[in-house]
Amino acid sequence: MQFRNTQEYAQHLDQQDPLRSYKDQFLFPKVKGKEVIYFTGNSLGLQPKNAKKFVDDIINDWAELAVEGHFQAEKPWWDYHERFAQKLAPVVGAKPAEVTVMNTLTVNLHLLMVSFYRPTKQRYKIVMEEKAFPSDQYMMASQVRFHGLDPEEAIVEVKKRSGEHSFRTEDIRAKIKEVGEECALVLMGGVNYYNGQVLDMETITRAGKEVGAFVGWDLAHAAGNVELKLHEWNVDFAAWCSYKYMNSGPGNAAGCFVHEQYHGQKDIPRFEGWWGHNKERRFLMEPEFQPEPNANAWQISNAPVLALAPYLASLELFEEVGMSALIEKRNKIVAYLEFILQEIAKEVGGNFEVITPKERGTQLSVFLHGQGKELFHYLMQNGVIIDWREPNVIRLAPAPFYCSYTDMFEFGQIIRNYF
Ligand SMILES: *Cc1c(COP(=O)(O)O)cnc(C)c1O
Repeated sequence: MQFRNTQEYAQHLDQQDPLRSYKDQFLFPKVKGKEVIYFTGNSLGLQPKNAKKFVDDIINDWAELAVEGHFQAEKPWWDYHERFAQKLAPVVGAKPAEVTVMNTLTVNLHLLMVSFYRPTKQRYKIVMEEKAFPSDQYMMASQVRFHGLDPEEAIVEVKKRSGEHSFRTEDIRAKIKEVGEECALVLMGGVNYYNGQVLDMETITRAGKEVGAFVGWDLAHAAGNVELKLHEWNVDFAAWCSYKYMNSGPGNAAGCFVHEQYHGQKDIPRFEGWWGHNKERRFLMEPEFQPEPNANAWQISNAPVLALAPYLASLELFEEVGMSALIEKRNKIVAYLEFILQEIAKEVGGNFEVITPKERGTQLSVFLHGQGKELFHYLMQNGVIIDWREPNVIRLAPAPFYCSYTDMFEFGQIIRNYF
């Protein structure tokens, strides 16, 4: 496709965009009275307009029904979390029984590691990527220490080759193979938060299984962004936050996947609570735990329904649109953004180096050679919301739900005017 860096052309792409009407389903902050160009949907997705109603419904039910709301509310609270499975399953490529929402991301990974990181004398190492998101590093190191082991010894990091910006699948496979029978767990970020690289999750999962390890994925930057087939890939477990591409609201409840082969087991180590107990018998208050026959067995407390409400609202949009339509637009709008960046760089004699490899989702990470943080401030003051990482990398994620091709064109003009 031959793109053009003109307003007419960008408008033409917008007119052809089957998702163009969805921009109007979201609320945008304003700068100088104008709605912003929003590139940080990988950090906090925008608020869907229907979110408020879902929250209000619960606030009203609480006022009018009080405790009766658990069973009498229009969407009863006692099984509110079960409304998610059907809608979430296609987003991550799972069976509905394999997904649930609960807690927050790092908490879920800790809980899942209780089940899937069970080191023995012989098999105790974790393979992960270098420079993972800090929370993941803290989580894994503390898990290792919890088992009386030394993170220096038990955590094996796969590194990028010197001078390269992304990981090579062959290097990850080789590292897993090298750790071999000592490998208890492979746990990595499916989409790297820094460079936007999409790892070959299918191949890496297979490599982990081949050495007899459990394999889990942190899908913070993957859920709602890239195609996932967790069930088919035979992934053991995964978790993802919902406030990034899933547009559920700040700090909101996280998703969790447990492969069906682990369902219905009473003897699997797991931290348990009453919301994981057989729901038909939950209120009989029996002493012995009977796990729900699905991922809900990993639930602990009663569901935070006020928090879940905007997530459910957002999932209605995902259900309506579907991942394949989002991915199709994503590919096109990211390619258009890359084109615009190259055109502007040529015009102003700048050097914008995209460090995101071709295995990518919505995010482009761009090295702004020779530019300082003033450019970041300038963009923010001119209604472009982006994210800055030291030394001078900007991350641009034009979420296909609410970014337009015209936004990409206007972003280019704003950057050009800086020089
Ligand atoms: C955003 C993100 C987190 C955030 O963790 P919370 O528990 O939701 O605060 C963790 N890991 C990765 C890879 C992330 O991108």
